[in-house]
Amino acid sequence: MKFLRVNCNKFVIWFFCIMIVNAEAKEELQERPNFIIILADDLGYGDVGYNGSTEIFTPNIDKLAQEGIICSNGYVTHPYCGPSRAGLITGKYQARFGMEVNCSYSPYDLQMGLSLSEKTFATRLKLLDYSTGIIGKWHLGAAKPFHPNNRGFDYFYGFLSGGHCYFPEDVSTIQTLISDDGSINYSGNEGGTLPLLRNDKNVEFSSYLTRSFSKDAVDFIKNNNKPFCLFLSYNAPHGPLEAPNETIKKYAHIKDWNRRVYAAMVDEMDQGIGLIIEALKKEKKYDNTLIIFLSDNGGVAPKDGFANENWASNFPFKHGKGSFYEGGIHVPFIFHWPKMIDSNVYNGLVSSLDIAPTIVSLAGGDLLENEFDGYDIIPHLLNNLPSPHDALFWREAGGLCWAVRTEKYKMLKNKWDAKDFELYNLATHPNESKNIKKTNSDIVKKLALKWNDWNVNNSRTSLLQSYDYQKKRQEMYNNLNEQLKKDASQKSTYKIKF
Ligand code: CA
Repeated sequence: MKFLRVNCNKFVIWFFCIMIVNAEAKEELQERPNFIIILADDLGYGDVGYNGSTEIFTPNIDKLAQEGIICSNGYVTHPYCGPSRAGLITGKYQARFGMEVNCSYSPYDLQMGLSLSEKTFATRLKLLDYSTGIIGKWHLGAAKPFHPNNRGFDYFYGFLSGGHCYFPEDVSTIQTLISDDGSINYSGNEGGTLPLLRNDKNVEFSSYLTRSFSKDAVDFIKNNNKPFCLFLSYNAPHGPLEAPNETIKKYAHIKDWNRRVYAAMVDEMDQGIGLIIEALKKEKKYDNTLIIFLSDNGGVAPKDGFANENWASNFPFKHGKGSFYEGGIHVPFIFHWPKMIDSNVYNGLVSSLDIAPTIVSLAGGDLLENEFDGYDIIPHLLNNLPSPHDALFWREAGGLCWAVRTEKYKMLKNKWDAKDFELYNLATHPNESKNIKKTNSDIVKKLALKWNDWNVNNSRTSLLQSYDYQKKRQEMYNNLNEQLKKDASQKSTYKIKF
């Protein structure tokens, strides 16, 4: 009896200990922050109020900026969609695994996607018991192994391709690579009128696409009872330029029609962000949610040969989407977290590469050496410490174009056929207006060595540009069909044996 009582007591003590430990663990679990990464698509640096836009109204983004930390030197790893997303989602330069061009939408191609050797931040957070979701654009592969649900996301609502129509009436289940006139669609955005997906099921959307994504994000926030990470990957304001009439009307002060519609698209995204903030407050999740807002690349602005594509403003920067000049890669970038972050401006170098290690670290994960090219940036932001990045690097197509930036200087070869490269002092000329290469051979050498060192650990390009890919694919089909025609022209030699 005594023995039993002792054991009983032990059991009671053990039970209470477990209860306390569990309560502590639970409390700790509850204290872990939620993450919402809001990624705009092709948003111009100068097209948000907090960066000086007087034409486009972005009160909700501006509020995030005013209350949070504005990264005045925030960069993405590529001047257009797919590779930029690959860098952001892995925390590694995409050149490390050769993904330097956009994925074509190709549901049967097991090569056309984010290399399966790479882990996304969602995979890492899922292991830390986070609920993970992505709403919006994927653009990291359409074949099954690349599907977001197979890359760490519990939940997916959106589309797999690089772009999508905004109105439900334009959706069609019929997709073809060949246009009505027999030409091939080289856009790389094939799949842009397919129905949306909720996880792996086709679903309809009934409102303007940006509104559907915002509404779904609100539901995701409401329905999650454990720490969550939501990647809200708007395709706004990426083309096609489409917006509801009532919102376009707000921008009658903008003369150029394309820019007017683009402004309305930015406006719709900003309204959606307002709804998300409202939902976070209502659900009492606002204080402990880290919101990171940025664009995947610069806005569509004039560049040689594309004078008709000119609806965004990357002011004060040069050029835009597709360019290694500042307009292509220097983006609006904000960290907002009421519980931990006070209003500030951080001037050190910050990269989209920092997002994955930052949220993994905040979720309680370990940052193993050589797993990331980015850093947990929070201590630097909170304490205004110097940037952990000595330099940032860019590369396209194995090095035909490249750029390197340190705190002060930037050196780049922006075009494949450029005869020479350029050097700028961004401290004095942030708009890259004065090339100082000729008079600064020591700086040229220093930056070249840095880039060469960085490039040692990169892979060769593993994907074809969309145009080349479609061309090769058609050649492949043509060859196959020629062979089949040849085979069909042969007489059949089959005989029934009896
Ligand atoms: Ca983009």
